[in-house]
Amino acid sequence: MSTLELVKVNAGYDGKPVLHQISFEARESAIYVVLGPNGAGKTTLFRTIAGILEPYSGQVRFDGEDLLTSKEARKKINYLSHYNALPEEMTVWRALDFYAKIEGGKADDAISLLGLGELKDKKVGDLSQGQKKRVSIAKVFLQERDIYLLDEPTSNVDPAVSREIRDIVLKISKERVVLYSSHNLYEARDIGTNLLLVRNGTLAYNGKISDMKSKEYRVGFRTATDISKVVDAKLEGGYYVMSFGTPEEAGLMLKKLVDSGVIVTEMRELDNPLENLFEDASPSSAASGA
Ligand code: ADP
Repeated sequence: MSTLELVKVNAGYDGKPVLHQISFEARESAIYVVLGPNGAGKTTLFRTIAGILEPYSGQVRFDGEDLLTSKEARKKINYLSHYNALPEEMTVWRALDFYAKIEGGKADDAISLLGLGELKDKKVGDLSQGQKKRVSIAKVFLQERDIYLLDEPTSNVDPAVSREIRDIVLKISKERVVLYSSHNLYEARDIGTNLLLVRNGTLAYNGKISDMKSKEYRVGFRTATDISKVVDAKLEGGYYVMSFGTPEEAGLMLKKLVDSGVIVTEMRELDNPLENLFEDASPSSAASGA
């Protein structure tokens, strides 16, 4: 299994540091969610790993080889950036075939992987934002690589397409290291197994997302009738609020309520266990894992 390793990486622009002493290892095939608010340094981190931005100090290694000096190591990575421009005047198939001829791979394989069959004869310029995103992702998956860096692959796409993209990434991550950035806590918990939390250019948390899933879930139920006498729930802002250890327990409560004739009009998770981390994490208080 391949290993991506960052050792005390400092990087930024025009001499101004953005990333401070970032160290981590990704040594198992999995999705590593790089989570952080806008401006935290996620894109800068991806650009540094991709070898586009040279770190001021520290090292990025892949299987022990320095990514800055080893072309071979760099070929093992593919990067979906925010700025992946596609030739607007070409059809989807032509555009993908164009890149396949330069970088390798087969347009038809990428088209079937991303379910782009119906769009393949359309001009890129005529596609919606979400469709363009899917084509950009198809381009990234033209060639088989060991590491994929996907910078906010689901930004600007509707929930159904987001779901599709996540399913494809989940499939691919079974054999590869995928770094997947997001500023969405719910998406992070939905897709990732490992979490790299970036705050102010530092790695504020590095560990398994499942470690956080064990925390308490607060779920609010909106119902057509008063249920405070039937269950131990507090009414807060129109929701009957209960705490659970896992989402499954909350689901069982929903079933119990419905089975006993209560009309539940809405059920929602009120806070996400990642939220506290997102807000409170600091290198000293939350750093853990390795
Ligand atoms: P994120 O991807 O988490 O939103 P970025 O890595 O894009 O964060 O940005 C981190 C910081 O680096 C921000 O303060 C941003 O203004 C700065 N930055 C990003 N790109 C450049 C650039 N090309 N030149 C100068 N500063 C930049």
